[in-house]
Amino acid sequence: MPYKSFEEYNMKVTDDVKTRYKNIIKDLGEDASREGLLKTPERAAKAMQFLTQGYHQDPVEILESAMFKESYNEMVIVKDIELYSLCEHHILPFFGKVHIAYIPNGHIVGLSKLPRVVDIFARRLQVQERLTEQILDCINDTLKPQGTAVVIEASHMCMMMRGVQKQNSTTTTSGFRGQFEKIETRNEFLKLIGK
Ligand SMILES: [Zn+2]
Repeated sequence: MPYKSFEEYNMKVTDDVKTRYKNIIKDLGEDASREGLLKTPERAAKAMQFLTQGYHQDPVEILESAMFKESYNEMVIVKDIELYSLCEHHILPFFGKVHIAYIPNGHIVGLSKLPRVVDIFARRLQVQERLTEQILDCINDTLKPQGTAVVIEASHMCMMMRGVQKQNSTTTTSGFRGQFEKIETRNEFLKLIGK
């Protein structure tokens, strides 16, 4: 999936965050002036801006830019969309797969736009539950299909590396609107994504 690279960093934000990262490194007991760490505050400041760029992007605009009139009215599924996000409680990554389905109601959307909607919401401080709802509502409210379904399966670093240290647990969240609220439609979707 082609993505525009994120090269334009806000210099003021980069400088402010850089200064704070330098202090955090010192507070954690490191020598912020040793060679390997010299440029780390700036790199980390840029990485964090990249990972939270979703605040400055509009998922509705992305979907509306590629909606097409079409009479196809069977289920459309995009599964195994890669997900990388940051848990808002620990600012640690959670990552996994997103499965999306919708049943058109006069319009279809360019398939590459669905992973972009995922990225826009994922590149913010998140909880998996809200991320699921936001993706679901955005597609459902913008495309106005007969139904929308979203399933997210993710592993959370804050569980794996700290806290309960459950290294093989995954968290599954799901949301359904319209036709997918009917058990048989929902089951067909879950079967097609292998659940
Ligand atoms: Zn967490």
